[in-house]
Amino acid sequence: MATAERLALLGGAPAVDQPLPHEIWPPPADEAELAEIAGQRNTDISIKGNSGPIGRLETDFLAFLDGGARYAVTFNSGTSALLAAYFALGVRDGVDVVGPALTYHAALSPVFALRGDVVLADIDPDTRGLDPKALQAALTERTKVITVVHQWGHPCDMDAISRIAERHGLRVLEDCSHAHGSRYKGKPVGTFGDAAVFSLQANKAVYAGEGGILVTSDPQVHDRATLLGHYRDRSRDTVLDEDLRAHWVTGFGLKLRMSPFNAIVARHALAAFPARKEARHRCLRHFGDQLGDVPYLEPVQVAAHVDMGAWYGYKPLYRPEALGGVPRSVLVEALRAEGLEVGAPSGPRLSTLPLYARPENPLFPGVPKRGTAPESGSHAAYVEQHALSLPTFTDWPKDRALIDQYAEAFRKIGRHREALVRYAAGPSR
Ligand SMILES: *Cc1c(COP(=O)(O)O)cnc(C)c1O
Repeated sequence: MATAERLALLGGAPAVDQPLPHEIWPPPADEAELAEIAGQRNTDISIKGNSGPIGRLETDFLAFLDGGARYAVTFNSGTSALLAAYFALGVRDGVDVVGPALTYHAALSPVFALRGDVVLADIDPDTRGLDPKALQAALTERTKVITVVHQWGHPCDMDAISRIAERHGLRVLEDCSHAHGSRYKGKPVGTFGDAAVFSLQANKAVYAGEGGILVTSDPQVHDRATLLGHYRDRSRDTVLDEDLRAHWVTGFGLKLRMSPFNAIVARHALAAFPARKEARHRCLRHFGDQLGDVPYLEPVQVAAHVDMGAWYGYKPLYRPEALGGVPRSVLVEALRAEGLEVGAPSGPRLSTLPLYARPENPLFPGVPKRGTAPESGSHAAYVEQHALSLPTFTDWPKDRALIDQYAEAFRKIGRHREALVRYAAGPSR
């Protein structure tokens, strides 16, 4: 007879015995990467157009997209690349961009710097990205751009969204910052819209440290995005339109380039990505299988026509009604006591942030905003309040034992449901 099991929260032994952190990302550099960084130090610490590691990264990235885009332009962050994309797609005073109500803010925030306006539309509970019906309902006569974010790695419903864009003559921007390597019906994300941006920030599956890359097949988008962030050689050598190229000395006044060091890091991360992706998929498929018998969780659903690519955390939904109504915060507390790395996903609904909520654009005082947002009762609010954020396990088969301990911790909490309900109602809270 085993000793009586207790929740770790109430003094029992934790279900997970490995010390934190459990998500170790980005992985350390190998010798080849370190040697290339050291070599660059004594070759060129500045930037000559898109020569050297910058140009090589851009070429490799286009190959990574199966040649589905013609041009790639690097930036010093994903946010900078998004600013350039919005500028290139014609966002300015009086233009609305429709985007998802629940995502990372930088997918849409640069719109305000261009004096445009953001209209938030609800998400689809299956993809967790923009819902086509909500998008249709959110269109205004000022809408010019639709932004889709392939949230947490799951591609949006690109057939339906592309049809809406076509019918109304709108441009589509894909934010693929969670979705390196994700595919919709076999085709890589980043090749569906008029432009796409991949953040290469350190937490992302392909990482530069800080960096971002814009891809497009539209020469005008390429030229205008380039001129927003790259003056001198790069613009002289790559801007295609002669009239636009006249601005090569100055660009449009900003310098938002990537450094060659970041490009080296990103190129190595890109080369290592296919094997890491495969290992990550094995880990997370196993995790999903293990969580299948936890009644108070809805494991992440992946549509049959979709490849999840990078993933971005493992984010199941909590069903409190199946755990005696225990609040998510108490479940998280209990899971942390069991030794799990777990939390609520960090980004709130955008409509709750002052940049979106206040009626004036703070960059241009006196300029009123018109954006509207779905509120309570929306799928965005449900996911915001019920999702759990768990590690993107990547080290297969080593992580298998840890994943099994995570699943066991969830089952253990299920067995102690009544104790947790009492704890949640107790005076200590
Ligand atoms: C990370 C991220 C960004 C911003 O990228 P940075 O490189 O951090 O500027 C934009 N959109 C989404 C969805 C992201 O996850």
